[in-house]
Amino acid sequence: MQARRQTPVCRASGFAQPEDRCPASGPLPAAGRGPCDPNLPTMKNKPIFTFRDAEKQTAPVAFMTMLKPAGSSCNLDCHYCYYLDKAVQYGGRQAVMSDELLERYVRQYIEANEVPVVQFCWHGGEPLLPGIDFYRKALALQQKYADGKRIENTLQTNGTLVDERWCELFAANNFLVGLSLDGPQDIHDAFRVTKGGRPTFERVMQTVAMFRRGGVEYNTLSVVNRLSEGRGAEIYRFFRDEVRSRYMQFLPAVEHVVDVEGFHRPLIVSPDREGARLAEWSVSARGYGNFLCDIFDEWVVRDVGQYYVQMFDATLAQWCGVQPGVCSMGETCGDALVVEHNGDVYSCDHFVYPQYLLGNIREQTLAEIYRSPQRREFGLAKRNTLPRECLRCKYYFACRGECPKHRFERGSDGYPKNSLCEGLLRYFRHVEPYMEQMRDLLSRQQSPAWVMPFARKRMGLM
Ligand code: SF4
Ligand code: SF4
Repeated sequence: MQARRQTPVCRASGFAQPEDRCPASGPLPAAGRGPCDPNLPTMKNKPIFTFRDAEKQTAPVAFMTMLKPAGSSCNLDCHYCYYLDKAVQYGGRQAVMSDELLERYVRQYIEANEVPVVQFCWHGGEPLLPGIDFYRKALALQQKYADGKRIENTLQTNGTLVDERWCELFAANNFLVGLSLDGPQDIHDAFRVTKGGRPTFERVMQTVAMFRRGGVEYNTLSVVNRLSEGRGAEIYRFFRDEVRSRYMQFLPAVEHVVDVEGFHRPLIVSPDREGARLAEWSVSARGYGNFLCDIFDEWVVRDVGQYYVQMFDATLAQWCGVQPGVCSMGETCGDALVVEHNGDVYSCDHFVYPQYLLGNIREQTLAEIYRSPQRREFGLAKRNTLPRECLRCKYYFACRGECPKHRFERGSDGYPKNSLCEGLLRYFRHVEPYMEQMRDLLSRQQSPAWVMPFARKRMGLM
């Protein structure tokens, strides 16, 4: 997925990942309703462990981590941020990861990965808050413990704290930086605001200009919300022509909230919580499907091979029968751990809740935590808890029931069903003829870009 490095990319961070291993970010999971909910019945009432799962267990260990060096601390107050509220879980404002713990993490992470390339993903909250010296220390530690492995760094930022010094650090150390930007000014500024409610679009666009001047490699991560509906083509053109993002990720925002006395905005909560309502900024299933179709139609007639949209890359991978590199479209997931500022480890960025805590790197190594049955069960549950509709769906091979964090509805057999299903179905139906063309081109060792004349003809543009 992208203006990218050799490997696929995380659906959430936009960062290069080992295949089928995504850290993911995004809106919150429902406490007690996630894939590891012990009360959830499993498919056919028994967990399924396939030959492929066994292969995964015996392959060299290779996993991602998303490190939160400053926990959920952030200088912004984006309305749909599921991670800001982790401050409550961690008892208020969080400290920056200590030097001692940083060293322990760097060493354990490199040691645990039995592959030649180890990718670090710096995430938040806002990962620039610890300051430049924190990253200088981290880079030195990476070299100290590299042991012949190649180290790569990715970082996801809201872009408002970047200055020329950061650009120099990123460029000099080949960071791939993911920039959170939702689209044109009115869409971005509606929800991505400072603690004081001030807009941030202009500041982020200054960062885009700095990145270009400073030779920083960047891509974009955009939240698809209610304001994005009906504006897919415009948003895509904005990223292509103004931001010049060669690799784009679009993530749907679908959450439930409650009003809490004394809290300045609705709190994101489990849909099971009493009084929970769908957040007003959530994208509708139909709106999300139309959004994807609209940007696909812009892309497929002129930009194939020049600009990359994560969802389209992953969809083509599914049509070709190879790993999509996006956890939401993987058969199973949970291969990208979250490491919090205090060393706590979780299976996924969306399931950072006490009941999903896997361990702490002060007590166990990351390798031990990665091998734990709880981590494995979390990933297998993505497949083992699918509803009948998904198992019989024509597009299951591509969709895989999408992400469990969006499974707010119930299928006809009572299993949790994805609330974006209608839109996903519309998208897969819409792209099917083009995906078939691209798959056939690839099978003849031709460029998938040759789909463009076919697309233009099919759409009556020539
Ligand atoms: S629950 Fe699974 S599919 Fe969803 S974001 Fe987390 S790892 Fe990815
Ligand atoms: S399109 Fe809908 S029914 Fe089909 S696999 Fe995806 S979520 Fe399930």
